[in-house]
Amino acid sequence: MENTDMMANKIIGSYINGNYKVVIFEDGTKLRVTPDSEFIPTRVESLDCKITQFCDMNCKFCAEQSTTNGRHGDLGNPIIETFPPYTEVAIGGGNPLSHPQLEEFLTKLKSQKCFPSITINQKHFMQEFERIKTLAQNEMIYGIGISIYDINEELAAKINELPNAVCHVIAGIVTLEQLKKMSELGIKKVLFLGYKIFGRGAYYYSEEVQAKINELKENMKNVKEMFKVISFDNLAIEQLNVKDIVPKEKWEEFYMGDDGSFTMYVDLVEKKYAQSSISNDRFDLLPTINDMFLDIRKRKEKTNEN
Ligand code: SF4
Repeated sequence: MENTDMMANKIIGSYINGNYKVVIFEDGTKLRVTPDSEFIPTRVESLDCKITQFCDMNCKFCAEQSTTNGRHGDLGNPIIETFPPYTEVAIGGGNPLSHPQLEEFLTKLKSQKCFPSITINQKHFMQEFERIKTLAQNEMIYGIGISIYDINEELAAKINELPNAVCHVIAGIVTLEQLKKMSELGIKKVLFLGYKIFGRGAYYYSEEVQAKINELKENMKNVKEMFKVISFDNLAIEQLNVKDIVPKEKWEEFYMGDDGSFTMYVDLVEKKYAQSSISNDRFDLLPTINDMFLDIRKRKEKTNEN
């Protein structure tokens, strides 16, 4: 869900998916149009794609349990060639910048007309800023998500240099003071992620974490005014009661659907797919990404019937 002016945006892709049309704008905003009462996809729209388990940050709440012993995923896996054009591929890890075949992978995705984005930690963003900037300028990556744990002037200036950079903050970890500082330093776009009680996040979860989630939830109306564009993943929508602070018409316009309805998760390290990165049910890869997506939809429908 985003507060943004779509009219000022350039269209970078559009396609028919089942009974509706998808239009993707330059800033990552997406529009769905259908004459029917619901959207019924026949292909995946966006993928959460894990390419490595390697990371040297050792965050205590890491849902992916990434470490410096983490393996890299196989970026020569034939399923990659089955990603359909205009698929939004959110590349994550671990630290995706540590994967030695990252550039080759991005080139492959570009040749397939996919829209890759990447999520990295603020430390890695600073260390590899020139590399990231070049990738963005060459349109090898469309979105850059930077996980913020401690904003400062130098970091904010670099983030503000990249028009497609979005700061990621985690409910239960980020404080109101940090958000205020981000706003004061001119940060404009923030994605709120829900706290994942999964992996190391399950061990780190505590009353203190929950208190921070509650504090953010109670102050969401004020926080909303601090930034030009705010968005939420589905977990944050639930944990922060986002529906309560958004007018009904806006909600219907901007809500992009629950996990597995138009999206899915694929782990190229463990060679598994799932509804989302916090699903316990994970399955061996099938021959194509759409086989996997349609399987997830079928499983979801079955669960909803029961
Ligand atoms: S949360 Fe992100 S930055 Fe931290 S250890 Fe995990 S992958 Fe690395």
